[in-house]
Amino acid sequence: MISDPAVIVLNYLFTLHAHFHTKMQVIKHINDLQTILDVKRKEGLSIGFVPTMGALHEGHLSLVRNAGQQTDFVVVSIFVNPTQFNDKGDLERYPRDLRKDTQLLTPTSCQLIFAPEVDEIYPEPDTRQFNFGPLEQVMEGKFRPGHFNGVAQVVSRLFDIVCPDKAFFGQKDFQQLAIIREMVRKLKLPVDVISCPIIRETDGLAMSSRNMLLTPEQRHNAVHISATLFEAVNKTAELSVEELCRWVVARINENEYLNTEYFEIVNEESLQPVRNWKDAGNKVGCIAVHCGKIRLIDNVVFRNT
Ligand code: AMP
Repeated sequence: MISDPAVIVLNYLFTLHAHFHTKMQVIKHINDLQTILDVKRKEGLSIGFVPTMGALHEGHLSLVRNAGQQTDFVVVSIFVNPTQFNDKGDLERYPRDLRKDTQLLTPTSCQLIFAPEVDEIYPEPDTRQFNFGPLEQVMEGKFRPGHFNGVAQVVSRLFDIVCPDKAFFGQKDFQQLAIIREMVRKLKLPVDVISCPIIRETDGLAMSSRNMLLTPEQRHNAVHISATLFEAVNKTAELSVEELCRWVVARINENEYLNTEYFEIVNEESLQPVRNWKDAGNKVGCIAVHCGKIRLIDNVVFRNT
């Protein structure tokens, strides 16, 4: 009877159903979150943390997968942080869908979602000013004044609340990773910052919550950004750093839907512009492109040969 294939299939379907319908805990308040995390810590479990602004996609889920492999109890935060938006329109447009995010996280290794309101994170305005020196004076830091100060405010606040053993960030936001590492170092926070690779759509476009704001024509043309970066990687023998930068910008701007804000080839550690291919260290080409009102970023590594 037990080995009856129909029973086996039914059992399997039942397990699958239970797995996908286990109710995901969505916590709104810091006290409730900390009560749960205190118990987990007392049980000896390590805490993994994935901070996000929601509108989740496979890029976020890859961070959750990494967190599940490296820690025992995974917390994902979903919080659209107002202090990191230097453009009010961008904040208003930013996609939000907690229900869908919860559904996406339910079958993953995420065990708890922390989705606070703004007042919970900032009962009073956060007036802290961070100084990241040269790291914040280039690229995103230069073109989005105040952005990294807001990122540091929210991430340090979330780290204080969650006290994770390890926190997971994507290389898609390459400069953000460097800023967070520097913040952890400066504040002497006891957290391991783990960097995870960029996840791309099948045509190469870097996944981003903002991609869903693109019209079908914009989405079709946005692939030109990653395609150009991939082409650029193979041109280091024929073009100097400066020539290649100009080539990338010209090539992307040929497309009527795209307008490059910056393209810089920087040292992977210092984030300072590279002058010569022979300079030491790996180099990363970082780009920001406007596609209509939507601003997209991407980057590619130029490995030292
Ligand atoms: P966000 O919700 O955009 O603030 O992103 C939350 C985290 O997900 C950040 O650490 C991002 O770097 C990471 N992330 C976003 N998009 C991707 C992607 N395409 N691949 C890998 N990580 C990503």
